[in-house]
Amino acid sequence: MHLFKPDYYVKSFKYMDINRLKKMNIRLLLCDIDNTLVAFDEPHSNEGVRFFIEMVQSAGIQVALMSNNVKSRTEKFGQALGVRIYSFSCKPFPFTFVKAMKDFGVRADHTALIGDQLFTDMLGGNLAGITTILTAPIVERDKLDTKALRTLERFVFHHYEKKGIMKRGDFDD
Ligand SMILES: [Mg+2]
Repeated sequence: MHLFKPDYYVKSFKYMDINRLKKMNIRLLLCDIDNTLVAFDEPHSNEGVRFFIEMVQSAGIQVALMSNNVKSRTEKFGQALGVRIYSFSCKPFPFTFVKAMKDFGVRADHTALIGDQLFTDMLGGNLAGITTILTAPIVERDKLDTKALRTLERFVFHHYEKKGIMKRGDFDD
């Protein structure tokens, strides 16, 4: 098993094929916030994010936010969206994934996570046994602690490309 490999790779949440999620029997979509839905230093959500969440929900898939960031950031961001928020989620550790699935009453094979990082989002989702969706980061800028992980990501992408497993920027949709 390739621990950092996503099941589905998109340029942006905006290009995600919601029908594909339905075909995969996904009933709960967990969304990372920073550099997945908005730039990490953008405090508020926007029309595109609201529209996306509404589209997913109208396909019968429940949505929650799951971020390693602190409550003051995530709640300010998520307030207007009316979805459940899991802050300081400690991805890649599995406990918040387990809690979210329990809260929503959804099994791992019906749960997906969309995120922009291999070492938190993809590793965490794969360890939790859920479907993983990787998106390119919204901006190149990153928080200081993320910068180190991006260096490690480059090694993983390089290795995966050499092995023919996946190629950075070679999106499914
Ligand atoms: Mg992120």
